[in-house]
This record gives sequence, structure tokens and C-alpha cells, in this order.
Amino acid sequence: MIARLKALVKKRSAAEVRYFGWAAILCALAGWFALSQPLDDGMRILRDRWRAHDASGQIAAVMIDVESINKEGNWPWPRNRLAALLDSIRESGARRVFITPVLAGNTDAAADAALVAALGRWEGRAVIASQHELDPVTNERLEVVPAEQFQAQAQVANVNLWFDWKADATSALYGIGSNVGVRKSMSTIASNSNVRSANAFPIDFAINLDSISIKSAAHVMNRSNNVRFDGKDVFIGLQNDRVNLPGHGNTPRSLVQIIATETLISGSPMSFGWYYAYPFSIIVAFIIAFGRRWTATISTILGLKVIAAASMILESNLMFLNSAPSVLLITSVVGLRLWFSARNKDKRINSLTGMPNLLALRNEDIRPGSTIVAVKVVNYAEISAALSSESEKQLALEIGKRLSSFGTTRLYHGDEGIFAWVAGNDQHNNLTDHIDALHAFFLKPVVLDGWHIDVAISFGLDATEKRDVSSRFSSALSAAGEAAKTGMRWKHYDPAKLNEVEWTVSLMSRLDSAIQNGEIWVAYQPKLDLRTKKVIGMEALVRWSHPERGNISPDQFVLAAEQNGRIDRLTYFVLEDALLTIKAALAKGLDLTVAVNLSVRMLEERDLLPTIRNIIARHGVDPARLIFEVTESAAVRSETDTMAALNALNSLGVSLSVDDYGTGYSTMDYLKKINATEIKIDKGFISAIGHSRSDRVLVHSTIELAHTLGRKVVAEGVEDFETLDALSRMGCDIAQGFFIARPMRRDSALLLAEGIDLQNAA
Ligand code: C2E
Ligand code: CA
Ligand code: CA
Repeated sequence: MIARLKALVKKRSAAEVRYFGWAAILCALAGWFALSQPLDDGMRILRDRWRAHDASGQIAAVMIDVESINKEGNWPWPRNRLAALLDSIRESGARRVFITPVLAGNTDAAADAALVAALGRWEGRAVIASQHELDPVTNERLEVVPAEQFQAQAQVANVNLWFDWKADATSALYGIGSNVGVRKSMSTIASNSNVRSANAFPIDFAINLDSISIKSAAHVMNRSNNVRFDGKDVFIGLQNDRVNLPGHGNTPRSLVQIIATETLISGSPMSFGWYYAYPFSIIVAFIIAFGRRWTATISTILGLKVIAAASMILESNLMFLNSAPSVLLITSVVGLRLWFSARNKDKRINSLTGMPNLLALRNEDIRPGSTIVAVKVVNYAEISAALSSESEKQLALEIGKRLSSFGTTRLYHGDEGIFAWVAGNDQHNNLTDHIDALHAFFLKPVVLDGWHIDVAISFGLDATEKRDVSSRFSSALSAAGEAAKTGMRWKHYDPAKLNEVEWTVSLMSRLDSAIQNGEIWVAYQPKLDLRTKKVIGMEALVRWSHPERGNISPDQFVLAAEQNGRIDRLTYFVLEDALLTIKAALAKGLDLTVAVNLSVRMLEERDLLPTIRNIIARHGVDPARLIFEVTESAAVRSETDTMAALNALNSLGVSLSVDDYGTGYSTMDYLKKINATEIKIDKGFISAIGHSRSDRVLVHSTIELAHTLGRKVVAEGVEDFETLDALSRMGCDIAQGFFIARPMRRDSALLLAEGIDLQNAA
């Protein structure tokens, strides 16, 4: 997993990776310092439009508006007039009344007395306001309270609001600390909430202001209008005491109080910081930055949708999340990626023909199992010397056209007459036919300006696994060079070429340290039971990830290790790893066997048995879960010693498997003599059963023969469905091969064994 992530990151230049990192840090800082707040506000207003909903209808407003001022004079009114308003409201059937302007201090004694009396008639159902204000002189927060005589008749509640950086009223309070302890807010009292705290809560701006019934005070005071407030709570407010409410603009403060109250009526509002959504957006941003193009596109859309949906759903439950830093991160990473790809585009195009160049090839995500085909125009130097640059372009385009003639869609064009393409593994079977046809096509000269130009062309193929594209392309190109030199149409790159003496010697000197520092590791290839369609075991295959040479094929270094007396170390290393795998599988409740390849050479060693017995015992693993694969060979057959060693191994309780069956001198006799539980038919025969009748017959009869001897049959190198299907029908027991799974890291192999259901697939 980590290795795959690393590989993804490596595809980008260090500078690009840095930019992505900075984006993540800057957006987090924007969240931390609330710099992204404007975006959050904007997004919230948009969401509120969607989520707009009506107030409960429990609360009505009575506004001291223009009409009221024209009639009664400017606020503050003589208190007997306010008393008259209170009486009208009470007689209109209101349940409670909330007076939002603070009635501080005493005025005309008779008028004040009238108000005291009017408040008294509410019998405790009147609530009057107090407000904390910052004294600019002492810088102290002081409470402006109603006059004592009013306090005696009514409940006092706080009406402070909280304003954000741009002076928008965004939060209200449950209560506030005062010299009578926590003074509840008007919203808390009006919503009958029993929270007693001095905390703020976010106001739900999605409540429609229009859904609150608003009456003019003058209108209410005129009894002939017969206004009714039956059972409702009434907030009295001043029309020209206004604050800014996000999404609603300048709004009378008393209406904001009502909205805050309605918020509490509908639930318990909560604010979450930006950091709740941020980890999610980091994951999404990572995929966008480093994933393939379509994965990135889908992740962008899904990521933003998830954030929007989550915010909506949470807000419907009054949980307010700040997602702006996340949205900023996702959009900035998308922007960066688009910018990088635009910047890189020019660099990845051949300026002569406009085809993608080799840099583009190197940056390609190549699917496993693909072959890189390099094309070399052998006589390019001579041809181009005689051509103008315009004709050279024409020639290159013509070559490109010919190379694309049999369905090659994406052709890369390097300089100096070099082309390349990637053949997917679906094209493998006829790839060389395809190339032969292309080669024949070039026997016809290219005609340019009346000239007949003979283009000599050769092809090189690289089908090696797990190396980076660059070195694979170089290998393919050098194979093309060799093909040209030896007069062949095409040539496969041969990894065994690395097997020069020098190379082997240095390789072997590094083997021990390579084991220690983890360059050598073990891959596992699952084996599928053809009857149950379940993974029943896997083969341990050693791997060497050399820091400079890339992945070295075991075909090279296993042989070298055998010849240099280093095979024991390697085998015991693989065995230890295999036992750990068995234990890991057991821990997951998986019933698996693990097969380890054992070199015939090791059978000659005297301490083989005790060493293996000790290792198995040390791990405390049931030896029946272990299979040793031994290649049949003349040596095994003739030497009675090795034969005896094999059967002694068997006595340890481990199983034996005859590897590469069909390639050696296998006889019935041999099979009978060694106590193998299974035979593995060599992949050379298996891959041929699709088209070779004789191989099909051979495989079929081998299966039958093995069954009569009571041995199981494993087919290795199953690369496609047809083969798998044919083997099933022939009664083969177990299959192994790229079609089922490639050799992979232990964890992946175990996951596969755990979860996959090939029943439907196969
Ligand atoms: P092998 O024992 O015949 O192992 C099977 C080889 O076939 C593996 O190659 C595996 O990756 C490959 N293979 C699996 N499925 C397919 C398929 O569908 N198509 C094709 N074309 N190939 C497939 P690998 O890992 O390169 O190993 C090569 C050989 O190296 C092995 O052949 C084995 O002889 C030897 N080897 C590997 N690991 C060890 C080890 O730990 N000890 C010893 N002594 N030899 C080992
Ligand atoms: Ca094997
Ligand atoms: Ca084999």
C-alpha cells in the first residue's frame, strides 16, 4: 500500500509534489486563521437558499415602525404609551411578551407607574431586556439593566448577539455572566430551552423571515383593527434598530432575536470547526494530485459533492461545519494539476510531428502485462541528411501513418527516427504477426517530392515486468538495435543478457546484504481450486528489487545463487517468510498452503533436513501447510541419495510438488517413486493449449495419469479465461497464473485469498 502510494507520488516532479504540499498547508492555515470564512459564509448562504424553511409560527413581531413613530412620536415613547401597547397585545390573546429595547432608568413617575401596572397585568409572562455593553472608557463590559420597578414585575433576559469579522450577526447566546449569575437570553427563555450556559450558538439563517408575522405597533394599539395573537409569543422591537443578518441583509434586531429563538425551538445548534472535514479533503486532494486523470476527475466531483451533501445534511440537523478550507484545498489542487499538465504538454510533444514524444511515454501509466515496442529507422541519419526539414517532417508523418495502420492508436515519436507504442496484453498473441505485417509494409518505398526513399526499419520488444517505463523503453530500443544488426525484423529484449559474469559476481557479493536490507523479498502467487473456485494456497516467489538495476528476475539470480553456493541462504529466507505467511493466514482464519521452491542442488546437502525441521519447529507451524516444489530432473532420478532426501523431507510432514512437469525426463516410474502430492504442469504447455492440439492432448492425459496415481494437478501460467475454462473441463484441480493473480506482496495475496469470489467471475 505504502509502496504503491510512493510509486504514485514519484510520478510527479519534486517541484510539483512541493506545490501540492504547500496547497495543503496554506489551506489549513486559511482555516486556522479563519481567512476562508468569507467563502464559508458564501457557501452557507447558498446552502440556506436550498434549505430555506419557515419559522414555527409560534412567535410574532410587533414593530415600532414608521407608522407607529408618526403616530406616537420618536422612540423612546412615554412609558404609559408602551403600557398601552402592552395592554393591547395582552388583550389580543398573546401568551407572553418580550420587549427587546432595554427599559433602563426612570422617567416621568406617572408614566413609569402606568408601565409597572401594565407589566404586572401580564402576571410574570412579560420578559424585558438587559444588554451588556463595552464601556469605551474603562474597557469593561457592563450590563445595562431595566429600572428596578420593572424588574419587580417581569423577567429580565439578555439580548446580546454575536457578530463576526464583517459585523454580521452570526450567533446568539444561551446566556451571559452577570452579577446575578448566568442571565438567560431572551431566545433561551422564549424557546423554553433549559440550557443554562454562557455559551453562544449559531443562528440558522435558513429560516424564512417572511414566515414571521409582523404587525405595526400603531396598528395593534388601534383596537378597532382587532388584531389577534392567540397563544403566540410576541416580540416587541424597533424597526430602525437593525443589524446585518447573513443572507438577509439589514434586519431589525428583534427579528434576529426571533430567528435565534426559532433556531433553538428546532433543535440544539452546534458549530464544528474547519478541521473536521479537512482530513477527508486531504485524501481527496491526494487522489486528485497523484491519481490517473479520470480517477482525479471523478474524485473532484465526488469529493465536492460529499462535502456539499454532508454540510447540507448536518445543517439540517443544525450542525454547522466550516468546509471552506476543504473546498479550497480540492479546488486549488485541481487548479495546480491542470496548470502542471498544461505546462507539461508542450514538453511532451514532438515539435516536428506534434505526436507525443518519449517524455510523454515515460510518464504514461502502463498497465501490467503490456509490451513496449520500440521502432528504429535504421537508415535515418542518411535519409535525413538529404532532406529539407519540411520533407523530414513529411517523412516522419508518413512513417507514423504506416506504423498506425493496424490499429495502433497512440504512437510516440522521439528524435532521429525513433518511434514507440505500448501494446496491451490483449494484443500479445498476435503482436509479432502485427509487427511482421508492419515490417512488410515498409518494403514499399516512401515517395517524397518525386523521390523514392527506402526506409529500413526494425522493432524491439520489451515485455519485462515491474521495471520503470524509461528503462523498459531503453531495453526495447536496444533490442531494436540488435535486431537491425543481426538482420532480424524484430527482437525481444532478453533480460538474461544481464547475466554476464561480471554482473553475476557483483550480484552475488551483494546477495547477503540485499537480504539484510530488504531488497530481497518474497512475492506470493495465489493458487485457485478449480472446483470450489477458492484460493487454497500460494507459491512463494523470491524477488530482488535492486536499487540501481531495478527488479532482477529470479531466473537470473536464483541460478547464479545456485552456482555460487548461495542458494541455502536464499531458500531459508524464503522459507521463513513463507512460514510467517502461513501464520498470518491462520490468524485470518484462512485455510491455505504455501509452496516454496527448493533447488535440487540443496538436496545434496547433509544438514538440509535438520535445518528445515528446526525452522518449522521454531515457528510452530503445522508442516502439512508447507509444500516444497522441486523441479524434476535427471539428477533427481538417477541419484538415489537425492531421491532418499526427497522422501525424507516428506517424512517431516511437508508435501512435495513436482515443478515444471513435462520439461524434464518425467516418467511414470519417477512419479511413483517420489511421494509428491501434486504435480505442476509447466506453463509452456498450459499457455499452448488454446491453439496447440497436441499440447491439449498432453495436458489432458497428464491430468488423467496423475489422477490415477492419486496426485493432484496444478496448472501454472494460466493467462486467460479460455485456458482456465479448458483446464476446468479437463478435470485439472488447481490453477495458477496471471489470469487469476500475479505474484504480489503478502498482504495483498492474503486479502485476495480472504475476499475474492471468483465463482461468478469464472
Ligand atoms: P517457477 O517455479 O516455475 O515459478 C513460476 C514462474 O512463473 C514465476 O516466475 C511466476 O511469476 C511466473 N508466472 C506465474 N503465472 C504466470 C503466467 O500466467 N504467465 C507467465 N508467463 N508466467 C507466470 P518468477 O517469479 O520469475 O520465477 C521464475 C523461477 O525462479 C521460478 O519458476 C523458480 O524456478 C525460480 N524461483 C523463484 N523463487 C524461487 C525461490 O525462492 N527458490 C528457488 N530455488 N527458486 C525460485
Ligand atoms: Ca515453482
Ligand atoms: Ca514452474
